[in-house]
Amino acid sequence: MPKAIIAGCGVAGLTAALAARQAGYQVVVFDPAPHACYYTSSRNAAIARSYEADPALSRVARTGVITLQQYPALYQPCGLLIRPLERDYNNQPTITGLEPQPGSYRLPDGQVFSGEFVAQNGIIGIAELTRHLVGECQRQGITLHFGHRVHIQNIRGGYICQIAIEPVQEFLNNHSTIAMEIHNSDLIINAAGSWARELGQQAGSDIPIIPHKRHLYRMLPPAGKKLPADLPVLWDEQNDFYLRPDREAILATPGDQTPTTAADYTPDEKMAHTMRAIFRHHLPWFADFTIETAHACLRSFPRDNRPVLGFDPKVQNLFWNAGWGGHGMTIALGMIAEISETLSQGFRRETELDNPFTPARFF
Ligand SMILES: Cc1cc2nc3c(=O)[nH]c(=O)nc-3n(C[C@H](O)[C@H](O)[C@H](O)COP(=O)(O)OP(=O)(O)OC[C@H]3O[C@@H](n4cnc5c(N)ncnc54)[C@H](O)[C@@H]3O)c2cc1C
Repeated sequence: MPKAIIAGCGVAGLTAALAARQAGYQVVVFDPAPHACYYTSSRNAAIARSYEADPALSRVARTGVITLQQYPALYQPCGLLIRPLERDYNNQPTITGLEPQPGSYRLPDGQVFSGEFVAQNGIIGIAELTRHLVGECQRQGITLHFGHRVHIQNIRGGYICQIAIEPVQEFLNNHSTIAMEIHNSDLIINAAGSWARELGQQAGSDIPIIPHKRHLYRMLPPAGKKLPADLPVLWDEQNDFYLRPDREAILATPGDQTPTTAADYTPDEKMAHTMRAIFRHHLPWFADFTIETAHACLRSFPRDNRPVLGFDPKVQNLFWNAGWGGHGMTIALGMIAEISETLSQGFRRETELDNPFTPARFF
């Protein structure tokens, strides 16, 4: 049975693992982090939003949301009220249960936030989704190895023929690097998130997936203020910020996106001031909330902000599943079928008409 070696155990790696298993591969996943979805946990708003300006992305986002609805333990459809920047909510085919309607929400101070409302959009449980995907992998006999990084070592005749599995020295003292022979029928799946470009470069294939830093704040109401139980996700694309309920608190972002390097997860103090200023100007009811935790996290995407999914046009046993940007949690369950379908086509010359996510668009 051909092997699929998955580099990365975030949502992209876990879904690629399930899809590769479905496609008949024996699957092994490696990640240098200590557990699955390490970079996603607490650094993610986990909002399921089913419409995007890009119709190809909207299609998988809507499949993702519809699939999430089948798992009530993973999903809380609290509704999403958005002031859209583009007319993407009105110009796309609607799906039963996901129709956007003009709507508004009155905050306790009387301010009304108006926009398009999608009642079935909402919030994904990050830990629950991770547990679900890891559990599925275990049931399918997929092995997950943490504390190990994939390094592509040799290419021969347009195929990767050798990789190294490198232990992460911080927490694996006694292991040494293992060289692994790779056959032409085996696959290396690049699901390395912010590090995907670097991994591709090791194979001589440079796809510019750029990490962009975004801040996320958990903010608590002051004594005497209580978050309304029916608060939906409020997303203001016009002023570029959003917030969502998180039990008794909110998660909010000032919508920053600064190009950076793959490992830059340090919050910048000045963004906290920006967050407070946004609330003072646009939603004063939240202006006296205090910041409990500040996280910086990376959304990695190419310039067209579309995931990169498919066989590398130059290295025939390298398969990309990266560039999931700010949509990874929403699209995860929708992507399994998409990845399976693309894998089952095998390596071929393709254009964006065949596969809107094709890596060939960069060559
Ligand atoms: C502030 C913020 C808010 C967000 N909000 C939302 C939201 O509301 N809704 C939504 O849908 N999405 C949201 N996202 C996006 C979502 O978090 C990402 O799309 C998703 O986490 C990307 O998953 P991934 O598996 O591609 O990357 P990652 O989770 O980063 O996983 C990549 C993994 O690859 C591993 N790796 C790196 N190099 C190697 C190597 N050489 N070998 C093996 N493994 C390697 C890393 O250790 C890492 O674990 C948000 C992101 C941010 C930053």
